[in-house]
Amino acid sequence: MGAPTIVVAEDDAAIRDLLIHHLEREGFTTVPAADGHAALRHARLGADLLVLDLGLPGVDGYDVARALRRGERAVPIVMLTARTDEIDRVVGFELGADDYVCKPFSPRELVARVRAVLRRSGGASGPTLVQLRFGRLEIDEAAREVRVDGVDVQLKPREFALLFELASNPGIALSRERLLERVWGFDFDGDPRTVDVHVRRLRAKIEEEAGLPDVLQTVHGYGYKFVRA
Ligand code: CA
Repeated sequence: MGAPTIVVAEDDAAIRDLLIHHLEREGFTTVPAADGHAALRHARLGADLLVLDLGLPGVDGYDVARALRRGERAVPIVMLTARTDEIDRVVGFELGADDYVCKPFSPRELVARVRAVLRRSGGASGPTLVQLRFGRLEIDEAAREVRVDGVDVQLKPREFALLFELASNPGIALSRERLLERVWGFDFDGDPRTVDVHVRRLRAKIEEEAGLPDVLQTVHGYGYKFVRA
């Protein structure tokens, strides 16, 4: 099986080139699309996934997503949006995108989303899974293992998912709501303090027991941020 083909539909050439650069470096094949018509054409030609900017000339991202949803073959879509107030529409019933990232975003975050969506959709997930390394800390997504100084740290599945989400976005503050969406799913209707409880457990294991201080920082009134060890 060859590398998955990702259509990158974005009219801003600088962003498009940056995304293509990062996706290809990770082993994906990419097809650029500078407007909605090209996005539709390439997505229908048998792409494995579409990275779709909402604001496109010609046919905009909304109409591209709607048109593809009407088709017989569901191409997974990761939306790029500059507007957080559009997220409910983007991932909701109306457009049914598989995931989204908000501008400005890190290319690394986008690549992580693309892999996750491909995995969930049963397609190829790329040549390798993500291995994150930050000095003394290693996070191995394939093996679902975390090591500090080469020593395994035993994490429960949610704790692993939470750490992976934070560490996939180093230096970026993630809100409690976003962490709930990512780690617990959109249908989670519990208390946002669930995130705090899990962060406390992670801190006990990573920072206290394994002796790697201050990697999980509180962003007051908002959420949490992973800081390189
Ligand atoms: Ca745009």
